[in-house]
Amino acid sequence: MATILIIEDEIDLARVASSYLEKAGYQVMTAGRGDAGLSMFRQIRPDLVLLDLNLPGMDGLDVAREIRRAGDIPIIMVTARVEETDRLIGLELGADDYITKPYSPREMVARVRAVLRRVDRPTTAPVHYQEGDLMVALDTHQVTLAGRSIDLTPTEFNLLTALISQPGRVFTRLQLLEAVEGTAYEGYERTIDAHIKNLRAKLEENPREPQYVETVFGVGYRFRKGTG
Ligand code: CA
Repeated sequence: MATILIIEDEIDLARVASSYLEKAGYQVMTAGRGDAGLSMFRQIRPDLVLLDLNLPGMDGLDVAREIRRAGDIPIIMVTARVEETDRLIGLELGADDYITKPYSPREMVARVRAVLRRVDRPTTAPVHYQEGDLMVALDTHQVTLAGRSIDLTPTEFNLLTALISQPGRVFTRLQLLEAVEGTAYEGYERTIDAHIKNLRAKLEENPREPQYVETVFGVGYRFRKGTG
């Protein structure tokens, strides 16, 4: 499930866009200011950003520049006037698409889908992941911590594999549930907490101050980047 971040100060519009995207199967987060949107972006690492141009706190162009600096996460710019799109293209911000207000929510969802399809290039899955002292071998399902073998249940292994596949990215409980069980039902997200607790007991020197699997309050969990 892809996560979309909407940065939009018109609350009603953000609400409508969010509800359409959720109905289309996306996980949606919203921010009503440019600066708040940027910090949310850094925290959740969404798959796509729907970014309004005129925002309080921090201008949409500056937000786009910062997002670009962080990588190639696709941006769809939302502008109030047609003529602004020329200005945006002129600035070569590298936005992946543009939508002009007022827009049809259906069209917006179609654009989001198209952009995500375009950037979803097939990648060759690595055979193992390594982060600090931790090594996860996908082919043999072996997990070692500083050379010492760690015994994980299949669920714990899948959970760890999902987290370590994108270090630094925040996964919601629902996304993790989907990763470990293949399906996810709302209301069962909390079972992930129990698996995380067991995983930490096996991986962490001090499970109360985890070095690998971090809690992101109010969102979910992430594998800490650059440990050890
Ligand atoms: Ca605005």
